[in-house]
Amino acid sequence: ENPLLSVKELTKYYHAKKGAVVKAVDNVSFDIMRGETFSLVGESGCGKTTCGRTILGVYPKTSGNIIYDGLETSTFSKKQKKVFSKQAQMIFQDPYSCLDPRMTISSIIQEGIHEHFSMSAAQKHERVLDLLNKVGLRSDFVSRFPHELSGGQRQRVGIARALALDPQFIVCDEPIAALDVSIQAQIINLLISLQRELKLTYLFISHDLSMVRHISDRIGVMYLGSIVELSGTNDIYRNPLHPYTQALFSAILATNIFSGSENKRIRLEGEVPSPVNPPSGCKFRTRCQYAKDVCSSEIPTLKEIETGHFVACHLY
Ligand code: SF4
Repeated sequence: ENPLLSVKELTKYYHAKKGAVVKAVDNVSFDIMRGETFSLVGESGCGKTTCGRTILGVYPKTSGNIIYDGLETSTFSKKQKKVFSKQAQMIFQDPYSCLDPRMTISSIIQEGIHEHFSMSAAQKHERVLDLLNKVGLRSDFVSRFPHELSGGQRQRVGIARALALDPQFIVCDEPIAALDVSIQAQIINLLISLQRELKLTYLFISHDLSMVRHISDRIGVMYLGSIVELSGTNDIYRNPLHPYTQALFSAILATNIFSGSENKRIRLEGEVPSPVNPPSGCKFRTRCQYAKDVCSSEIPTLKEIETGHFVACHLY
């Protein structure tokens, strides 16, 4: 089976002041299979959001390949571009900032429908009611405005708007970060059930490792623009290999009062270095307790340590 999305050696550099180059996404590769949820996790500023937006063409890539359904996206014809803009959608962190406050929920959900489908007004109305039902909102929401909705309801509208175009692939960019903890699980469960029902493929972007666990099939951990570890969800939580992943995951495992385990929280020393001038060799070496000589001279590449479990570290 071919992956729906294949990202190969993707880089996205920005030009900052004084000729400095910010390597926001630095040589990132991964595949996403149809119907799968692949998550990119890491602290803010690690490049996960830039990566998702570059894949969707919101930002132009610097180099590398983004292959969607077997075709390189940068060589799309006009028609293929239009199909891609319909099939690949995004759900945002803050649904409020991207919902026009003067538009009713109905017109917000319909926005993209005009461009991609020829439907009568009655058909569009039916479609909106069906979408509201799918995301768990009552039909009387059609005439409401965004400010009348709670955060969770607004995120449901954001999801309905993405679904309006019958997408195959959705980039979920921190979709629960702005929500109360009690609402977060509801939105995650909604995304999971929609995925099953509509056979959706997700790229899920989050810094919240406890929520990511519920929705992900596989996870890539990013640090300073690069993936340092990539594995199936169970493997990576049970047996994190990269020192950065271990530190990141120890924070949630240590607070898991139900596990009864004696996990010690690993404290990360020092600040995240600037992506303008990252450390030579392994970018994590300035904060790594296991760093050795080779770590400053050679960039570790992702190696498959167990089936499907990749890590970029000289310890392995
Ligand atoms: Fe630490 Fe070296 Fe591994 Fe980097 S390559 S994580 S510095 S041991």
